[in-house]
Amino acid sequence: MSRGILFVVSAPAGCGKDTILEKALAKEINLCYSVSATTRAMRAGETEGISYYFKSKEEFEKMIADGELLEHTEYCGNYYGTPEQTVRDSLESGQNVVLKIEIEGAENIKRLIPEAVLIFILPPSMQELKRRLYKRGTEDEETIEKRLKQAEKEISFAENYDYVIVNGELEKAVHDFVSIVSAESFKTNRNRELIEALKNNDTIE
Ligand code: 5GP
Repeated sequence: MSRGILFVVSAPAGCGKDTILEKALAKEINLCYSVSATTRAMRAGETEGISYYFKSKEEFEKMIADGELLEHTEYCGNYYGTPEQTVRDSLESGQNVVLKIEIEGAENIKRLIPEAVLIFILPPSMQELKRRLYKRGTEDEETIEKRLKQAEKEISFAENYDYVIVNGELEKAVHDFVSIVSAESFKTNRNRELIEALKNNDTIE
């Protein structure tokens, strides 16, 4: 059985990465979501162990000290990190895994696991992103302007990613994401074992 593929998805706030991932994961493709640990407070509608593993600062720092995290970062005053063991076990068992993390974490993952596939989700335009952030109505004008500045900064990192998806129309963006996951699994270098087995007339699982 071939190893699973590690996918990393990043996007500025308001680009719809949560919805795209939610819809893609519901399609029963070979893809599981890696739940991160964080010290930020739980938001309404979130669930422990599904949205995040919610930790105190001390608990999180112990996880760092014990080497339990594949990567971690500080973002807007809180810690976020990827628990390593589950990711490694899933990849080992042939399952594809997706991390939903910010740009610094994505860079660290690429350094640690060069074969990871990095996907960046873009808004169709900055005007549309602004419109969506205002429409959400969850933040005041000052916060939205800050988020837009942050988005511009983050978008300049998209060049370091392997793929970009433009979230103009949601269903198309979900389809594009699923297509990338699918195409990556057909790459020759991920199927060497199968080719070798066929050459030797063996059967593999
Ligand atoms: P939020 O607090 O809005 O859920 O997440 C804030 C940012 O942290 C988002 O960009 C999210 O993708 C990122 N993030 C979530 N989990 C992790 C993680 O484990 N590692 C890193 N580096 N970023 C994360």
